[in-house]
Amino acid sequence: MARAFDEEAPYPGGEALNEKCGVLGVRARGADVARIAYFGLYALQHRGQESAGLAVGDGHTIVCHREMGLIGAIFDEEILSKLTGYVACGHTRYSTTGSSLVVNAQPLLESSPLGDFALAHNGNLTNTEQLRALLPPEQRLQTESDSDVMAKLLALEPGRDFVERIKSLMRRMEGSYSIVLATTDQLIAFRDPWGIRPLCIGRFADGWIVASESCALATVGAEFVREIEPGEIICVDDGGLRSERSEIVRKPSFCVFEYIYFSRPDSVMAGSSIYIARHAMGRRLAQEHPAEADVVMAVPDSAVPGGIGYSDESGLPYVEGLIKNRYIGRTFISPDQSMRARGVKLKFNPLVENLRGKRVVVVDDSIVRGTTTRNIVRMVREAGAIAVHVRITSPPMIHPCFLGVDTASYDELIAANKSVEEIREHIGADSLGYLSLKGLLAATGRPTGDFCTGCLSGRYPEVICDHVEGDGRIVSKPEPALSASRPR
Ligand code: AMP
Repeated sequence: MARAFDEEAPYPGGEALNEKCGVLGVRARGADVARIAYFGLYALQHRGQESAGLAVGDGHTIVCHREMGLIGAIFDEEILSKLTGYVACGHTRYSTTGSSLVVNAQPLLESSPLGDFALAHNGNLTNTEQLRALLPPEQRLQTESDSDVMAKLLALEPGRDFVERIKSLMRRMEGSYSIVLATTDQLIAFRDPWGIRPLCIGRFADGWIVASESCALATVGAEFVREIEPGEIICVDDGGLRSERSEIVRKPSFCVFEYIYFSRPDSVMAGSSIYIARHAMGRRLAQEHPAEADVVMAVPDSAVPGGIGYSDESGLPYVEGLIKNRYIGRTFISPDQSMRARGVKLKFNPLVENLRGKRVVVVDDSIVRGTTTRNIVRMVREAGAIAVHVRITSPPMIHPCFLGVDTASYDELIAANKSVEEIREHIGADSLGYLSLKGLLAATGRPTGDFCTGCLSGRYPEVICDHVEGDGRIVSKPEPALSASRPR
């Protein structure tokens, strides 16, 4: 991802943004599902680097292993060998609600009258407080995250089977949720009726897999089948895969930021490749904001397809301008003040040979707080560029996200507080151009009405926006009328 560590803020945690989570599930009799899930999760590591976990069911019990840290550091042969069975559910987390503790790592394990289950959630509920109030008093205090409230309610919900219980709970839940759930025997996955976060299905010879992004399917040799539809619940057991639907129907509102930044470029969403979409964003950006320049570079990694698109459209040569240290993770020892004063370049080092004496277009996918971008502009100038034109493959981010990206608050979002000209001045660029919303949506190749563009337009999906106050806080509405299916 292109985000650099903020060299002016304390490390670590200098970043205001949290990332989304990755979820994955596998059901395959006779296969080593833990190993398959492990490699699938590895491909979803970009969606969360704080903690991860894997739960495996063998028809009788579910065993779960969760830890803080990166997938590669958490699991080894010994741990995987203890996760035996034929149904698995995995998660890689960056917290959007609930603090950064191993108790909040997922999958969450829960007991229910139907048996134990493990649940992995990507998204953010916006009516958690109302939902929490439905729990028996002794359970209310133990739950910190929205996912935990969801798991506990699911255990209490009426219904003959899990799918019935999920349908009942979906009537109450508001916000974003792409869920993978493993019982001791079944793999279940469902998506909120807005379809805000991604979730897709894949198949291999002896089983099924579901994952946040199709890159995880390709990694484990599964064939992409299709996306799970908004409001759809799929259930895999020995009878194969069956699909059911929640009766709640909402306007599709897929997160546009998945296209801009979050998803891997080799993932496919709604039939279009993220790489192709980002390349088209770069092309459109070059049409909307041409620059008098000698070369184009992109901020690695997420902005690279956009940078190449800008170069292809403008005819300006594409060069590598910054080399990224790929091994800098989120948790590392902070440089002290004297190191910072000496201008440590922990994440990026400029390629002087490509920049010296050049007028440079720097393409990035977004500006959130402006701190990283300002550092990058400074680095490119110090490397000898004689002009720096910043081009962004998305419109200004002017609102926080309530649906799975814990972005900065209004105070921290630079575009919520400054005009484009003021941002240009702040980051020290010679010129600054943002892609229009129209250009962005057209580049995705997806119907334009199908998106949540809340962070760019302030227009959040219906119902969810009822919770958002003018100052960006989420407020609770009066408790919704409960049907006869109130939890027992
Ligand atoms: P800044 O200039 O500090 O706002 O940082 C902009 C950089 O942050 C761009 O390179 C983006 O690719 C990256 N970025 C955008 N959204 C996120 C996010 N949610 N988490 C981490 N980095 C992000």
